[in-house]
Amino acid sequence: MHCAAQLLAYGVHVTSRRSDLSTSTRIRTVLLVAALMTEVLSAASGAQSRTLNEQADAAFTRRLPPISAAPACAIGETATAFPGGSEQFAVLDPKYRLPKGWKPAHLAWVNKSQQLQREAAHAWRTMQMAAAHKAIRLTVVSAYRSESHQSSVFNRNVKKSGRAHALKFVARPGHSEHQLALTVDVGLSAGVTLNAEPVTTPKTKSQRAANWLAAHAFEYGWVRSYPKGGLKKTCYGSEPWHWRFIGVAEAQNYRASGLTLREYLWQKR
Ligand SMILES: [Zn+2]
Repeated sequence: MHCAAQLLAYGVHVTSRRSDLSTSTRIRTVLLVAALMTEVLSAASGAQSRTLNEQADAAFTRRLPPISAAPACAIGETATAFPGGSEQFAVLDPKYRLPKGWKPAHLAWVNKSQQLQREAAHAWRTMQMAAAHKAIRLTVVSAYRSESHQSSVFNRNVKKSGRAHALKFVARPGHSEHQLALTVDVGLSAGVTLNAEPVTTPKTKSQRAANWLAAHAFEYGWVRSYPKGGLKKTCYGSEPWHWRFIGVAEAQNYRASGLTLREYLWQKR
């Protein structure tokens, strides 16, 4: 109000110097000058508040923790973090590992020879039934592996295919997602591992299963750890059979993120 009164006074001052103007012209001119000045002042104050907003945004951005990208793949023996105190989101790769002797709790059988943590076992059975409704028979070829079991799997692979090949496809003991008992190697029938990528026109049983998993596994909380072409980001070659349980809500977020699982989990640290 103080400002509007000053503007009107200024308008009166301008018009009072012109004795030739009629009263109505004086009033119109006063109002016009006041309106013009108001516009100029409001534009200036808008610019000022924009500057303040920009400063506030910058300050807010500075306070946010930086989103850290997953590091390049390396070999090491570094203890992994348990975000939120749970192994559910632990990054396991050739460098990051579980603490020595770590064991999962609450194991449940998913078939005659394989075990998962209870929640993952339940999620697996639910997904298995949903797939069966579409005539896709999924089995578990390998689920929980203790550190010593993983050691024999890795050594066997080194003997068979050499160390370089083993490092690309098999985790060293302590580094395997299978030790979490939240991971399955999916099979189509007992002992036959699913080894097909999703395709536009599926022709084989394997391709139909791969397509179904790519489209629906996340609905049950399961995500693929090692997609095709992801070696540099996931640290392992493509494994169409290897799926990890992270929970339904997280699997949906993960799918929307467009990241690999290792990158997604790294951000939770
Ligand atoms: Zn596996």
